[in-house]
Amino acid sequence: MLDKEEVNSPHLEELMGHYRGIISLLGEDVQREGLLKTPERVAKAMLTLTKGYTMDPHEVLRSAKFKEEYSQMVIVKDIDFFSLCEHHMLPFYGKVHVAYIPNGYITGLSKIARVVDIFSHRLQVQERMTLQIKECIQQTLNPLGVMVVVEAKHMCMQMRGVEKQNSITTTSDFTGAFNQAKTREEFMNLIMHK
Ligand SMILES: [Zn+2]
Repeated sequence: MLDKEEVNSPHLEELMGHYRGIISLLGEDVQREGLLKTPERVAKAMLTLTKGYTMDPHEVLRSAKFKEEYSQMVIVKDIDFFSLCEHHMLPFYGKVHVAYIPNGYITGLSKIARVVDIFSHRLQVQERMTLQIKECIQQTLNPLGVMVVVEAKHMCMQMRGVEKQNSITTTSDFTGAFNQAKTREEFMNLIMHK
């Protein structure tokens, strides 16, 4: 997982300075004991949560692409993800489900989860994240079709009372063989059976 790595950024000190300013502008005393190390912790947390900018998801798939004649649907469901909405920088999180129909090449199942990890560790909107995961798989593995479904809860909606608690936003995107309703249904049936 991304968050176990040590945070190493030339911008750490500067970020800490900005967070010190923000905390102070919010009306707090940055010298208060409990807050002394907060700017550093927040800066490191934000660097970790946006670590996906320094990683190339296409490379992850290209480096684990295997020739294989299997041509049935491959499904990776219930991939947990945590991301930050780019409008409020508050978390949205949930599950990603991916299906693809190989066209001569498959990839390691953990690599699909890794791709989700990289795109989610950026400032995002759920719709674009869905599309980016789809396109990354389509471009690197060139499958007969790929479909991505994302189910998420948005803290920026829930904490600010914009939406009912526990409402879930679902997005999906697909290519190729998934243009056929029957193929999409097969995938949806498989991911709905928990
Ligand atoms: Zn938001």
